[in-house]
Amino acid sequence: MADIKKKRRELLDKIPGMPALLNHPDIRKLREMHPTLYVNDIVRRTLERLRKRILEAKGEDLGGIAVDSENICREALERAKRALQPSVRPAINAAGVILHTALGRAPLAPAAQQAVADAIRGYCTLAIDEDTGKRGDRHLHLDQLIAHVTGAEAGIMVNNNASGTMLILNTLAQGREVIVSRGQLIEIGGAFRIPEVMERSGCKLVEVGTTNRTHLHDYERAINENTAAILRVHTSNYRIIGFTGEVPLPELADLAHRYNLPVIDDLGSGALVDLSQWGLPKEPTVQESVKAGMDVICFSGDKMFGGPQGGYLVGKREIIERVKKNPLTRALRGDKLQYSAAEATWKLFLEPEKLTRTHPVLGMITEPAASVRRRAQRLKRRLAPVLQDRAETAVAADTTEMGSGSLPGKGIPTYVLRISPVKRTPECIAEALRKGDPPVFTRIAGDALVIDLRTVFKREEAILEQCLVQAFKRVYEA
Ligand SMILES: *Cc1c(COP(=O)(O)O)cnc(C)c1O
Repeated sequence: MADIKKKRRELLDKIPGMPALLNHPDIRKLREMHPTLYVNDIVRRTLERLRKRILEAKGEDLGGIAVDSENICREALERAKRALQPSVRPAINAAGVILHTALGRAPLAPAAQQAVADAIRGYCTLAIDEDTGKRGDRHLHLDQLIAHVTGAEAGIMVNNNASGTMLILNTLAQGREVIVSRGQLIEIGGAFRIPEVMERSGCKLVEVGTTNRTHLHDYERAINENTAAILRVHTSNYRIIGFTGEVPLPELADLAHRYNLPVIDDLGSGALVDLSQWGLPKEPTVQESVKAGMDVICFSGDKMFGGPQGGYLVGKREIIERVKKNPLTRALRGDKLQYSAAEATWKLFLEPEKLTRTHPVLGMITEPAASVRRRAQRLKRRLAPVLQDRAETAVAADTTEMGSGSLPGKGIPTYVLRISPVKRTPECIAEALRKGDPPVFTRIAGDALVIDLRTVFKREEAILEQCLVQAFKRVYEA
């Protein structure tokens, strides 16, 4: 025990002081090139972290802690480099998950990228009435477009679909009851649970039916004078199979309307085009919910829709106007970046025949498997000289996932490049790829690193190849 204390003391005493570190040639160079105080702070934190590690290390781990200035400088430099480059930076998604939440979900369409760049260069007409020069309504940028594309009377965008759901529940049902089927009380990633959202929105959840089956009479029996709405949640992220039953939407709408109640439809991903036209599993579309008589539909802006983060409420004009008057709407509104990108994305749906070329998400979804296979084979060939005796490679059939809770368990057929490193784990290579520039994200299956080119843009292919070459060099030549 006393031994450990002594060892700790020795290590702590050996740590060089701040002045010595700041004078190290590498750190000096960094201080000349970057904001000095920030670099100093990073060095100080590196020292703090090191002291903490020494104080917390168990006896046998103490030996492995390096306290010489070369090592500390190297760590400080590494940390400084990371802190000084943009923290949110472009990455390559070779993981084969199209709507990868951790990688920013839907990549924006070029038209939307351009619209943002144009709108934010200086001032923009975010909320001004150009006829009168007076303060206007930002929601009007999208209202007509949403109505035209979805067939609904009106629409509004808020910060995201979680806000949209809270907002609509709060607007229509604060202090009152909302009926939901037990089969739809889902949790969406990131601690967003329908029952908790309802509670926070100020309404009371009334559960009806059972996990696997809910009937029309279950809903009808729950209606009373305190009922404010019926909520239907598209259970996009899981599927109940077997002896199941949910009430068809038109019947639910008829029932609600007989009692003068609105139906809220939380579609989650919210497809605007029918995926089955490309041989993919059918996702319910927003237009179908409008036709089925849903009074207000909420869906996410950065899932299948393919826009910036956002949440849409579309439906009856009277309901959308009530939402606009809710003070919470002010707290949940989008900014000029979201509006400019969203408008450009909605406009893509005015020319549906061009979507596979103009809309990256739909472009990825519809790329033929044979085309992905050709790209995988090309990458395999180009990597061959570098990977020679370092890895075995093969192009194999696999599936791309939609991600973000869309098409659960029903991916899109694809071809992947499987790279099985010799005498190294695929995890090492994956880590080197993540730490590269740009960072590359892949998947691991058994002993192989899996690269799905369906989610890699063609313009990224040469960069991806270089990143792989560098990662293998780093791992094998370390
Ligand atoms: C994804 C999802 C949400 C949350 O949407 P965000 O835009 O991420 O806030 C809400 N409801 C359902 C059913 C979803 O699938």
